[in-house]
Amino acid sequence: MEYFVSLERALEIAKKVQVELTCTYSLLDEAHGRILTDDVISLVDDPPFDNSSMDGFAVKHADTTDPPTRLRIVGTSQAAAVSASIHVSNGEAARIMTGAPMPPGADAIIMVEKTTVSEDGEWVELQAQAKPDWVRKRGENLTKGQVALSAGERLTPHHIGLAATMGHPSLSVFSPPRVSIISTGDELKQPGEELEEGEIYESNSFGIAGLVKESGCVPMRKNACADSLDELRAALDEAAMESDVIITSGGVSMGEWDLVRKIMEEEGEIHFWRIKIRPGSPPLFGLWKGTPIFGLPGNPVSSHIVFRMLVKPWIMSQFGVEGSLETIVPARLLEDLKATTDCHTLRRIFVYPQEGELVASLKTHQGSGNLHSMVAANALTFLPPGSTAKSGETISVILL
Ligand code: AMP
Ligand code: MG
Repeated sequence: MEYFVSLERALEIAKKVQVELTCTYSLLDEAHGRILTDDVISLVDDPPFDNSSMDGFAVKHADTTDPPTRLRIVGTSQAAAVSASIHVSNGEAARIMTGAPMPPGADAIIMVEKTTVSEDGEWVELQAQAKPDWVRKRGENLTKGQVALSAGERLTPHHIGLAATMGHPSLSVFSPPRVSIISTGDELKQPGEELEEGEIYESNSFGIAGLVKESGCVPMRKNACADSLDELRAALDEAAMESDVIITSGGVSMGEWDLVRKIMEEEGEIHFWRIKIRPGSPPLFGLWKGTPIFGLPGNPVSSHIVFRMLVKPWIMSQFGVEGSLETIVPARLLEDLKATTDCHTLRRIFVYPQEGELVASLKTHQGSGNLHSMVAANALTFLPPGSTAKSGETISVILL
């Protein structure tokens, strides 16, 4: 067991444990949030044919360079209508709808707003030059066979729309790993129940379930477990049976009642305990009866930050995704921050542009129990150990 390791080292240790993942085909309707197992190529040119990006008239550009111009209307090109019968010659124009194929002979579009049609409907007058740019060329977005989605990408609505555009009815995705989430603590009550003296509402399992979902896994949120070795053992055994990964919250610090640490020491297998980040230094990682387990801290901010910095990169590595998942940008501090000498410090900050640069200020107090500080923030500081973090310094921040 390694003790108090850097974030990098913690990930290195955790990545030695792999879960076995299987693949499945998912229909597009069910693919949101799933992770691609393979690169996806386009089955067609996008767009598949030259077409108009405007309602208007298809014309020869050379005819329109000296407006106003009068052209004879020779037909109409509508979406999906065969336009081969229309041919635009010099002095001619064809009515065209957005997305309709360009008729042969035409090379530019004039928008309908810049035209007037004669009363008999035979002639159109153009008040401006037609634009070749308003023709969307075949394959200008993607060509057939081009890779447009990559293995390891999480499918957002944009990905799914693009997969459909490229002609795929389904996609090869990972069967999502099942992740059990067990909160621990005698003081925890479900929201909706009446609080007795000394009790608080249990929040970690709900927040972590969302984080798990956003990482392409299926959360299995359990009822909070009391601070009892027997109850904890039963909950961990059940979780190991029915899920691929276990996440606990609470009970991993140094105290007498930190039973997750205690039971893992006595009956599980700890690979590391404590990592060099603030907030969030208490976590442990190891195996419970062969199932990987992350013991996250109980403090709500700490558990969310440790998930983001440690658990999520580990999950993504199971999907074959390596490297930083974060967008890190420079920002100038508007006030002094407290950093630590031995840990990376992740303060919840609010960044905004000011005179051409991003500036950062604290909005809320930084207690690791204050989950409102996460909601109010749009970034986290990423201060290396020993940073001074004085007002005016430019530091690295992680955009949330
Ligand atoms: P622990 O790590 O168990 O000592 O918990 C640290 C702090 O986090 C204590 O103030 C707990 O009451 C609080 N806490 C632990 N688990 C949760 C939870 N699931 N939801 C909200 N707060 C929690
Ligand atoms: Mg506790």
